[in-house]
Amino acid sequence: MVTILEQPLKFHGGLRLDANKSPSLRAPLRQAGIPERLFVPLSQHIGEAADPLVEIGDSILKGQPIARSLSYISAPVHAPTSGRIIDIDAYPIPHPSGLKADCIVIEADGEDLAARGGLTMEAVFEADPADIRQHVRDAGIVGLGGAGFPTSVKLNPGPGREVELLVINAAECEPYISCDEALICYRTREVIDGIRIMRHALHARQTVIGIEDSMPKAISCLQNGLDEAGDTDIRVIAIPTVYPAGGEKQLIYTLTGEEVPSQGLPIDLGIVCHNVGTAAAVGRALLQGEPLISRVVTVTGAGVRQAANLDVRIGTPIVGLIEQCGGYTDTVTRLLMGGPMMGVSLPSDAMPIIKTTNCILAASLQEAPQPLPAHPCIRCGKCAEVCPASLLPQQLYWYAHARNFDKAQDYNLFDCIECGCCTQVCPSHIPLVQYYRFAKTEIWNQEREREKADIARQRHEFHLERLERDKKELQERRAKAKKALNKPKAGNADSKKAEITAALARVKARKANQPVTARNTDNLSEEQRAEITEIDNRRASNPNENRP
Ligand code: SF4
Ligand code: SF4
Repeated sequence: MVTILEQPLKFHGGLRLDANKSPSLRAPLRQAGIPERLFVPLSQHIGEAADPLVEIGDSILKGQPIARSLSYISAPVHAPTSGRIIDIDAYPIPHPSGLKADCIVIEADGEDLAARGGLTMEAVFEADPADIRQHVRDAGIVGLGGAGFPTSVKLNPGPGREVELLVINAAECEPYISCDEALICYRTREVIDGIRIMRHALHARQTVIGIEDSMPKAISCLQNGLDEAGDTDIRVIAIPTVYPAGGEKQLIYTLTGEEVPSQGLPIDLGIVCHNVGTAAAVGRALLQGEPLISRVVTVTGAGVRQAANLDVRIGTPIVGLIEQCGGYTDTVTRLLMGGPMMGVSLPSDAMPIIKTTNCILAASLQEAPQPLPAHPCIRCGKCAEVCPASLLPQQLYWYAHARNFDKAQDYNLFDCIECGCCTQVCPSHIPLVQYYRFAKTEIWNQEREREKADIARQRHEFHLERLERDKKELQERRAKAKKALNKPKAGNADSKKAEITAALARVKARKANQPVTARNTDNLSEEQRAEITEIDNRRASNPNENRP
């Protein structure tokens, strides 16, 4: 039985950082304009890329599926607005690899025409959880906290598994990012409806919203919204503002005191955790019939003139958003997707907003300083003191640096949430997180190579097996044929006699050019008689046949 603690706990490590959220929260959440062209990547989620359903030249409506998911861990993609498909090709996307990926390019027609219809809350509560999951899947919803894991999969605890607690993650702990706070304050009803639908889909016994105590306005919005909805079973708990309080494992520990096992999942404890923005997307999909075609994005940093939170259509180029926020200032030096701790550096602002883009940080040199030259580790242990996953970052660094990936895994490399706390405090300026990312990528690559090699080996073994089987079958067929040849025929003496008689009759008939009569076929078989009759008929129709 999981218990929600009256007094939240403090997890190990973490950092107290300057929030820097107020610039983007000064103005209310607003709708971003729809650009002339939208670049919608086929892969915006964890899992297999979606498969296009449209062709160049097709006209599409807002919300129409334009790519389908072909596997369980995947998500479909929908048209963010109405218009025409003008290209399907590789374009730059915001990804740490910096590589291009397939995108569907839409030329907006400015009409923004949609075909959709939602359900009532009563109908949703009467629906089977499996139907709700299917609806969520069809709407292309993935985790909007940054992970991008398909939500329908996380709404399925699996056979025989009870959900004790649904945790809604509204902690939003990373500096500068305020999209969840804006969503809670300006779309409270959508958020609460989504949480109630998720609770129903999971049959969760308890539900709690974990939110940092530095967000009093959002906390009171949630509380008032729940009162209005008459839902007293959902609790709102303010947790200490410490980075990374919004890490899934850290939040669960803070709220319940339960520790998710190494390499384990929250469901192992009967807990499921969803981001608050994901909940709102679920509410919108079921009650308004709108798939995931937009999300709230924070545009902020000293490098942009008017920081803001905007509701942005997926596929909108970042450059267009920056323009809608007054353009760049002279101080901009770097563009990040995400916050300063876990964000990804972007080489260009031509890249589009995707489902997992929570923030665009146009940073000044002060906000995102150039990394200082790294020095050798002095074994000060500061990195271990701040690690919220209770790891030994210096050991992980050592093994990642030495490419000893097995050892790195022995030190629970995959429990690292890449929060960057260790890098932040390292007096030797070692880019520790980069080493962990590198090690993880190498391990995944090796696994992929191993899988490929296994498949190739299996194919080769199957090929050899088939050759062996063909050879055996051939031998068996030959043996059978040989046996059939050597087998004495039934009624041997009589049949031989009959054959000889028939042959003599045929010769005689040929010589006399007379039809063979029934008289000399008395001892013949049916087949032999039929053959003779056929000869007779042929001769009758052509008397010259067989004549010299
Ligand atoms: S903080 Fe840096 S120098 Fe200190 S032990 Fe960790 S890696 Fe080494
Ligand atoms: S990045 Fe990983 S190793 Fe470093 S503090 Fe965070 S969880 Fe620990």
